[in-house]
Amino acid sequence: MEIKKKILLVEDEAKIRNALKDFLDFQGFAVVEAVDGIEAIEKAAKSRPDLILLDLMLPKVSGEDVCRRWRQEGLQTPIIMLTAKGQQKDKIEGLNLGADDYITKPFSLEELLARIEAVLRRIDPARAVGQIFRFGDLDVDVSSLKARRGKKEIELSKREADIMQYFAANPRRVINRDELYEKVWHDIVTDIGTRTTDMHIAKLRGKIEADSENPKIITTVRGAGYRYEG
Ligand code: CA
Repeated sequence: MEIKKKILLVEDEAKIRNALKDFLDFQGFAVVEAVDGIEAIEKAAKSRPDLILLDLMLPKVSGEDVCRRWRQEGLQTPIIMLTAKGQQKDKIEGLNLGADDYITKPFSLEELLARIEAVLRRIDPARAVGQIFRFGDLDVDVSSLKARRGKKEIELSKREADIMQYFAANPRRVINRDELYEKVWHDIVTDIGTRTTDMHIAKLRGKIEADSENPKIITTVRGAGYRYEG
């Protein structure tokens, strides 16, 4: 029997909380609810969830403060932040505070489920062994710098593996070239850096995409950047 994944749902608005709980129950998750920041901290310690959905605007202690505190205490449970529309600054801050992903209200339940599945896939050893992750029929093993599609073995450079790893850690989020360059090359962004990023993405696509002219794994978001569709 499969053990249910436990989700700590932190949301003060009863209507949203109840709707999310019903949906997550139905999807086969065990749901623990918290209605404010204090309760969130208590329940995370007590119930040891597999994943936390964290609203930011919370009574008593804000979602940001709760998140910061958890990460300072070494809690490694993945956190998806639920942010209000248009709070771009909050999103960036949230990711800097150690959240794994964020979703903007109002969101569809399908989108939320996709994000939850993507985050769980990254931590579930049955779905992703060590540094291996899957996209359709493509397996990428970041640690050995190898990818495989069916019987075809694909060699990756260290840089390409680093790029894949960064994308895999940030599924379905638009990552602009500056961010990618900073995170993977650990360098200050220049025009050359941006072109370097594009060249590497083009080469990586040639290796991992079934059709590099029509990428399905790392897509281009016009005028914004790239997105890993994991
Ligand atoms: Ca709220």
